[in-house]
Amino acid sequence: MQRRKFLQLSSLSVAGLSIKKNNLSFTEIRKPIVVATWDAGIAANKAAWNVLKNNGRALDAVEQGVMVTESSQNCCVGLGANPDRDGFVTLDASIMDENFNCGSVAFLERIKHPISVARKVMEKTPHVMLVGSGAQQFAVAEGFTLEEQKLSDDAKKSYENWLKKNEYKPVINIERTEGGHGPFAPAQLENGEWNHDTIGMIALDVKGNLSGSCTTSGAGFKMRGRVGDSPIIGAGLFVDNEVGAAVATGQGEDVIRIAGSHTVVELMRQGLHPEDACKKTVERIIKAKGIEKCKQIQVCFIALNKKGEVGAYALQKGFNYSVCYADDYNKLLDSKFLI
Ligand code: ASP
Repeated sequence: MQRRKFLQLSSLSVAGLSIKKNNLSFTEIRKPIVVATWDAGIAANKAAWNVLKNNGRALDAVEQGVMVTESSQNCCVGLGANPDRDGFVTLDASIMDENFNCGSVAFLERIKHPISVARKVMEKTPHVMLVGSGAQQFAVAEGFTLEEQKLSDDAKKSYENWLKKNEYKPVINIERTEGGHGPFAPAQLENGEWNHDTIGMIALDVKGNLSGSCTTSGAGFKMRGRVGDSPIIGAGLFVDNEVGAAVATGQGEDVIRIAGSHTVVELMRQGLHPEDACKKTVERIIKAKGIEKCKQIQVCFIALNKKGEVGAYALQKGFNYSVCYADDYNKLLDSKFLI
Protein backbone atom coordinates (compact mmCIF):
# COMPACT_ATOMS: atom_id res chain seq x y z
CA MET A 1 0.00 0.00 0.00
CA GLN A 2 2.79 2.36 1.06
CA ARG A 3 4.84 1.49 -1.97
CA ARG A 4 1.91 2.02 -4.31
CA LYS A 5 1.30 5.42 -2.79
CA PHE A 6 4.95 6.34 -3.24
CA LEU A 7 4.87 5.25 -6.90
CA GLN A 8 1.70 7.23 -7.50
CA LEU A 9 3.19 10.31 -5.91
CA SER A 10 6.44 10.07 -7.84
CA SER A 11 4.69 9.77 -11.18
CA LEU A 12 2.33 12.61 -10.34
CA SER A 13 5.28 14.78 -9.48
CA VAL A 14 6.24 14.82 -13.18
CA ALA A 15 3.10 16.73 -14.06
CA GLY A 16 0.85 13.70 -14.01
CA LEU A 17 2.83 12.11 -16.77
CA SER A 18 4.51 8.75 -16.95
CA ILE A 19 6.48 7.35 -19.83
CA LYS A 20 5.55 3.97 -21.20
CA LYS A 21 7.92 2.45 -23.69
CA ASN A 22 9.09 5.68 -25.24
CA ASN A 23 5.55 6.92 -25.46
CA LEU A 24 3.20 8.96 -23.39
CA SER A 25 0.88 7.46 -20.88
CA PHE A 26 -0.93 9.57 -18.34
CA THR A 27 -2.02 8.94 -14.80
CA GLU A 28 -5.13 11.01 -15.48
CA ILE A 29 -7.16 11.67 -18.60
CA ARG A 30 -5.06 13.96 -20.77
CA LYS A 31 -7.25 16.21 -22.83
CA PRO A 32 -7.29 18.05 -25.03
CA ILE A 33 -4.49 16.46 -27.00
CA VAL A 34 -3.57 16.20 -30.68
CA VAL A 35 -1.21 13.81 -32.43
CA ALA A 36 -0.04 13.92 -36.06
CA THR A 37 2.26 11.94 -38.32
CA TRP A 38 5.77 13.06 -39.21
CA ASP A 39 7.47 16.39 -38.49
CA ALA A 40 4.99 18.34 -40.61
CA GLY A 41 2.71 17.49 -37.68
CA ILE A 42 4.38 20.16 -35.53
CA ALA A 43 3.01 23.08 -37.59
CA ALA A 44 -0.29 21.29 -38.12
CA ASN A 45 -0.63 20.57 -34.39
CA LYS A 46 -0.19 24.27 -33.63
CA ALA A 47 -3.29 25.13 -35.64
CA ALA A 48 -5.22 22.21 -34.16
CA TRP A 49 -4.12 23.19 -30.65
CA ASN A 50 -5.52 26.70 -31.12
CA VAL A 51 -8.92 25.15 -31.67
CA LEU A 52 -8.61 22.62 -28.83
CA LYS A 53 -7.32 24.98 -26.18
CA ASN A 54 -10.28 27.27 -26.79
CA ASN A 55 -12.61 24.39 -26.00
CA GLY A 56 -13.17 23.73 -29.71
CA ARG A 57 -14.34 20.51 -31.25
CA ALA A 58 -11.82 17.78 -32.16
CA LEU A 59 -13.39 17.65 -35.63
CA ASP A 60 -12.59 21.33 -36.28
CA ALA A 61 -9.10 20.84 -34.87
CA VAL A 62 -8.22 17.94 -37.18
CA GLU A 63 -9.56 19.77 -40.21
CA GLN A 64 -7.81 23.07 -39.49
CA GLY A 65 -4.62 21.29 -38.47
CA VAL A 66 -4.03 19.40 -41.69
CA MET A 67 -5.13 22.38 -43.80
CA VAL A 68 -1.83 23.98 -42.77
CA THR A 69 0.05 21.11 -44.39
CA GLU A 70 -2.19 21.15 -47.45
CA SER A 71 -1.38 24.84 -47.91
CA SER A 72 2.36 24.43 -47.87
CA GLN A 73 3.80 24.42 -51.37
CA ASN A 74 7.00 22.82 -50.12
CA CYS A 75 5.43 20.15 -48.05
CA CYS A 76 4.19 16.66 -48.15
CA VAL A 77 0.55 17.00 -49.14
CA GLY A 78 -1.73 19.19 -51.19
CA LEU A 79 -1.20 20.68 -54.62
CA GLY A 80 2.52 21.30 -54.07
CA ALA A 81 3.14 17.58 -53.64
CA ASN A 82 4.43 14.99 -56.03
CA PRO A 83 2.46 13.99 -59.12
CA ASP A 84 1.40 10.66 -60.57
CA ARG A 85 3.33 9.07 -63.45
CA ASP A 86 1.45 11.23 -65.94
CA GLY A 87 2.53 14.39 -64.15
CA PHE A 88 -0.75 15.26 -62.42
CA VAL A 89 -1.22 15.82 -58.69
CA THR A 90 -4.18 13.77 -57.48
CA LEU A 91 -5.28 14.00 -53.86
CA ASP A 92 -7.01 11.71 -51.35
CA ALA A 93 -8.42 12.72 -47.95
CA SER A 94 -10.73 11.50 -45.21
CA ILE A 95 -12.24 12.80 -41.99
CA MET A 96 -14.21 11.10 -39.20
CA ASP A 97 -16.01 12.48 -36.15
CA GLU A 98 -17.13 11.15 -32.78
CA ASN A 99 -20.41 9.73 -34.09
CA PHE A 100 -19.09 7.45 -36.86
CA ASN A 101 -19.86 10.19 -39.38
CA CYS A 102 -17.21 10.15 -42.05
CA GLY A 103 -16.45 11.61 -45.46
CA SER A 104 -13.74 11.15 -48.02
CA VAL A 105 -12.53 12.13 -51.46
CA ALA A 106 -10.14 10.33 -53.76
CA PHE A 107 -8.39 11.02 -57.06
CA LEU A 108 -9.32 14.68 -56.65
CA GLU A 109 -7.50 17.21 -58.82
CA ARG A 110 -6.96 20.98 -58.66
CA ILE A 111 -8.55 21.54 -55.23
CA LYS A 112 -6.35 23.03 -52.52
CA HIS A 113 -8.09 21.60 -49.46
CA PRO A 114 -9.33 18.06 -50.07
CA ILE A 115 -9.84 17.62 -46.31
CA SER A 116 -12.53 20.30 -46.36
CA VAL A 117 -14.20 18.69 -49.36
CA ALA A 118 -14.18 15.39 -47.44
CA ARG A 119 -15.89 17.16 -44.54
CA LYS A 120 -18.53 18.56 -46.89
CA VAL A 121 -19.13 15.06 -48.29
CA MET A 122 -19.70 13.94 -44.70
CA GLU A 123 -21.96 16.81 -43.76
CA LYS A 124 -23.83 17.61 -46.94
CA THR A 125 -24.34 14.36 -48.83
CA PRO A 126 -25.87 11.00 -48.00
CA HIS A 127 -22.57 9.39 -49.09
CA VAL A 128 -19.20 8.67 -47.53
CA MET A 129 -16.93 8.90 -50.56
CA LEU A 130 -16.72 10.85 -53.81
CA VAL A 131 -13.97 10.36 -56.37
CA GLY A 132 -12.39 11.94 -59.44
CA SER A 133 -14.35 14.35 -61.57
CA GLY A 134 -17.47 13.80 -59.44
CA ALA A 135 -15.61 14.88 -56.31
CA GLN A 136 -14.23 17.89 -58.16
CA GLN A 137 -17.69 18.84 -59.48
CA PHE A 138 -19.08 18.62 -55.95
CA ALA A 139 -16.22 20.74 -54.59
CA VAL A 140 -16.79 23.46 -57.19
CA ALA A 141 -20.54 23.42 -56.48
CA GLU A 142 -19.68 23.93 -52.81
CA GLY A 143 -17.64 27.01 -53.67
CA PHE A 144 -14.10 25.60 -53.72
CA THR A 145 -11.81 27.25 -56.28
CA LEU A 146 -10.52 25.19 -59.17
CA GLU A 147 -6.78 25.88 -59.03
CA GLU A 148 -4.43 26.00 -61.99
CA GLN A 149 -3.01 22.60 -62.96
CA LYS A 150 0.66 23.25 -62.33
CA LEU A 151 3.44 21.43 -60.49
CA SER A 152 5.35 23.20 -57.72
CA ASP A 153 9.02 23.86 -58.54
CA ASP A 154 10.21 21.00 -56.29
CA ALA A 155 7.68 18.56 -57.64
CA LYS A 156 8.55 19.50 -61.23
CA LYS A 157 12.23 18.86 -60.58
CA SER A 158 11.55 15.53 -58.94
CA TYR A 159 9.17 14.44 -61.67
CA GLU A 160 11.72 15.30 -64.36
CA ASN A 161 14.28 13.21 -62.46
CA TRP A 162 11.84 10.38 -62.13
CA LEU A 163 11.06 10.48 -65.84
CA LYS A 164 14.71 9.73 -66.60
CA LYS A 165 14.37 6.32 -64.97
CA ASN A 166 10.65 5.97 -65.40
CA GLU A 167 10.27 3.11 -62.94
CA TYR A 168 7.90 2.75 -60.04
CA LYS A 169 9.69 1.57 -56.95
CA PRO A 170 8.56 2.31 -53.40
CA VAL A 171 11.32 3.83 -51.30
CA ILE A 172 10.93 3.55 -47.54
CA ASN A 173 10.84 6.61 -45.32
CA ILE A 174 11.05 9.12 -48.10
CA GLU A 175 8.30 11.43 -47.06
CA ARG A 176 8.57 14.80 -48.67
CA THR A 177 8.49 17.69 -46.22
CA GLU A 178 10.82 20.55 -45.49
CA GLY A 179 14.02 18.70 -44.64
CA GLY A 180 12.51 15.33 -45.42
CA HIS A 181 12.30 12.36 -43.10
CA GLY A 182 14.63 9.60 -42.15
CA PRO A 183 18.37 9.36 -42.47
CA PHE A 184 18.45 9.25 -46.26
CA ALA A 185 15.80 11.83 -46.95
CA PRO A 186 17.84 14.88 -48.00
CA ALA A 187 19.86 12.95 -50.59
CA GLN A 188 16.78 11.17 -51.81
CA LEU A 189 15.01 14.49 -52.09
CA GLU A 190 17.85 15.76 -54.26
CA ASN A 191 17.40 12.77 -56.52
CA GLY A 192 13.66 13.09 -56.56
CA GLU A 193 13.30 9.62 -55.08
CA TRP A 194 10.97 10.48 -52.21
CA ASN A 195 7.62 8.96 -52.74
CA HIS A 196 5.07 9.04 -49.90
CA ASP A 197 3.22 12.18 -48.96
CA THR A 198 0.72 12.18 -46.10
CA ILE A 199 -0.36 13.82 -42.90
CA GLY A 200 -2.69 12.02 -40.51
CA MET A 201 -4.03 13.66 -37.35
CA ILE A 202 -6.10 12.44 -34.38
CA ALA A 203 -7.39 14.54 -31.50
CA LEU A 204 -9.30 14.36 -28.22
CA ASP A 205 -11.14 17.53 -27.21
CA VAL A 206 -12.12 19.01 -23.85
CA LYS A 207 -15.47 17.24 -23.98
CA GLY A 208 -13.68 13.91 -24.41
CA ASN A 209 -14.66 13.49 -28.07
CA LEU A 210 -12.30 12.03 -30.64
CA SER A 211 -11.92 12.83 -34.35
CA GLY A 212 -9.37 12.17 -37.08
CA SER A 213 -8.23 13.36 -40.49
CA CYS A 214 -5.88 12.16 -43.17
CA THR A 215 -4.79 13.92 -46.38
CA THR A 216 -2.28 12.94 -49.03
CA SER A 217 -1.10 13.05 -52.60
CA GLY A 218 -0.57 9.30 -52.23
CA ALA A 219 2.43 7.39 -53.46
CA GLY A 220 4.73 9.47 -55.63
CA PHE A 221 4.64 8.68 -59.33
CA LYS A 222 1.77 6.29 -58.78
CA MET A 223 -0.25 4.85 -61.64
CA ARG A 224 -2.91 7.25 -62.82
CA GLY A 225 -6.12 6.56 -60.90
CA ARG A 226 -4.35 4.83 -58.00
CA VAL A 227 -6.02 5.40 -54.65
CA GLY A 228 -4.27 4.54 -51.40
CA ASP A 229 -5.40 3.87 -47.86
CA SER A 230 -5.82 7.48 -46.72
CA PRO A 231 -9.39 8.04 -48.01
CA ILE A 232 -10.52 4.52 -47.09
CA ILE A 233 -12.29 4.61 -43.74
CA GLY A 234 -10.97 1.75 -41.61
CA ALA A 235 -7.69 1.59 -43.52
CA GLY A 236 -6.04 5.03 -43.41
CA LEU A 237 -8.23 6.37 -40.61
CA PHE A 238 -10.68 5.11 -38.01
CA VAL A 239 -12.35 6.67 -34.98
CA ASP A 240 -14.56 4.98 -32.41
CA ASN A 241 -15.44 7.48 -29.75
CA GLU A 242 -15.87 4.77 -27.10
CA VAL A 243 -12.35 3.50 -27.62
CA GLY A 244 -9.88 5.58 -29.59
CA ALA A 245 -8.63 6.76 -32.97
CA ALA A 246 -5.87 5.66 -35.32
CA VAL A 247 -4.33 6.85 -38.56
CA ALA A 248 -1.79 5.33 -40.94
CA THR A 249 1.00 6.47 -43.21
CA GLY A 250 3.26 4.55 -45.56
CA GLN A 251 2.55 1.97 -48.22
CA GLY A 252 -1.21 2.30 -48.54
CA GLU A 253 -1.86 -0.99 -50.30
CA ASP A 254 -0.55 -2.91 -47.30
CA VAL A 255 -2.58 -0.83 -44.88
CA ILE A 256 -5.75 -1.54 -46.88
CA ARG A 257 -5.05 -5.29 -46.93
CA ILE A 258 -5.36 -5.56 -43.16
CA ALA A 259 -7.85 -2.69 -42.57
CA GLY A 260 -5.02 -1.14 -40.57
CA SER A 261 -6.53 1.74 -38.58
CA HIS A 262 -9.66 -0.22 -37.73
CA THR A 263 -7.44 -3.04 -36.51
CA VAL A 264 -5.54 -0.67 -34.22
CA VAL A 265 -8.79 0.63 -32.73
CA GLU A 266 -10.20 -2.87 -32.23
CA LEU A 267 -7.02 -3.92 -30.44
CA MET A 268 -7.34 -0.90 -28.16
CA ARG A 269 -10.93 -1.99 -27.47
CA GLN A 270 -9.48 -5.27 -26.19
CA GLY A 271 -7.50 -3.26 -23.67
CA LEU A 272 -4.18 -2.78 -25.43
CA HIS A 273 -2.23 0.42 -24.91
CA PRO A 274 -2.13 2.47 -28.17
CA GLU A 275 1.53 1.61 -28.71
CA ASP A 276 0.90 -2.12 -28.31
CA ALA A 277 -2.13 -1.91 -30.61
CA CYS A 278 -0.02 -0.21 -33.30
CA LYS A 279 2.75 -2.77 -32.84
CA LYS A 280 0.41 -5.76 -33.19
CA THR A 281 -1.06 -4.23 -36.33
CA VAL A 282 2.38 -3.78 -37.88
CA GLU A 283 3.13 -7.41 -36.97
CA ARG A 284 0.01 -8.40 -38.85
CA ILE A 285 1.40 -6.75 -41.98
CA ILE A 286 4.59 -8.77 -41.62
CA LYS A 287 2.51 -11.91 -41.20
CA ALA A 288 0.45 -11.11 -44.29
CA LYS A 289 3.33 -10.05 -46.53
CA GLY A 290 6.38 -11.84 -45.19
CA ILE A 291 9.43 -10.25 -43.66
CA GLU A 292 11.51 -10.04 -46.85
CA LYS A 293 8.91 -8.05 -48.78
CA CYS A 294 8.33 -5.87 -45.72
CA LYS A 295 11.95 -4.76 -45.89
CA GLN A 296 11.07 -2.87 -49.09
CA ILE A 297 8.26 -0.81 -47.63
CA GLN A 298 7.36 1.43 -44.73
CA VAL A 299 4.08 1.38 -42.82
CA CYS A 300 3.42 3.38 -39.66
CA PHE A 301 0.48 3.92 -37.31
CA ILE A 302 -0.29 6.45 -34.61
CA ALA A 303 -3.09 5.95 -32.08
CA LEU A 304 -4.81 7.83 -29.29
CA ASN A 305 -7.25 6.37 -26.79
CA LYS A 306 -10.09 7.83 -24.80
CA LYS A 307 -7.76 8.45 -21.84
CA GLY A 308 -5.43 10.58 -23.93
CA GLU A 309 -2.75 7.87 -24.08
CA VAL A 310 -0.66 7.99 -27.23
CA GLY A 311 1.24 5.32 -29.14
CA ALA A 312 2.95 4.68 -32.46
CA TYR A 313 4.75 1.89 -34.25
CA ALA A 314 6.40 1.48 -37.64
CA LEU A 315 7.75 -1.33 -39.77
CA GLN A 316 11.08 0.41 -40.33
CA LYS A 317 13.28 2.90 -38.59
CA GLY A 318 12.77 6.57 -39.37
CA PHE A 319 9.14 7.29 -38.56
CA ASN A 320 8.36 10.12 -36.17
CA TYR A 321 5.20 11.79 -34.96
CA SER A 322 4.19 15.03 -33.28
CA VAL A 323 2.31 15.25 -29.98
CA CYS A 324 0.80 18.45 -28.57
CA TYR A 325 -1.14 18.87 -25.34
CA ALA A 326 -0.10 22.30 -24.07
CA ASP A 327 1.10 25.68 -25.36
CA ASP A 328 4.61 24.58 -24.42
CA TYR A 329 4.36 20.92 -25.35
CA ASN A 330 4.40 20.20 -29.09
CA LYS A 331 7.11 17.64 -29.62
CA LEU A 332 8.43 15.32 -32.26
CA LEU A 333 8.89 11.78 -30.95
CA ASP A 334 10.66 8.87 -32.60
CA SER A 335 8.51 5.83 -33.20
CA LYS A 336 9.62 2.35 -32.31
CA PHE A 337 9.92 -0.03 -35.23
CA LEU A 338 9.97 -3.75 -35.88
CA ILE A 339 12.55 -4.37 -38.58
N1 ASP B 1 -0.47 6.08 -47.23
C1 ASP B 1 -0.36 6.93 -48.38
C2 ASP B 1 -0.78 6.18 -49.60
O1 ASP B 1 -0.37 5.05 -49.77
C3 ASP B 1 1.00 7.48 -48.61
C4 ASP B 1 1.76 7.98 -47.41
O2 ASP B 1 1.44 7.73 -46.28
O3 ASP B 1 2.76 8.67 -47.62
O4 ASP B 1 -1.44 6.75 -50.42
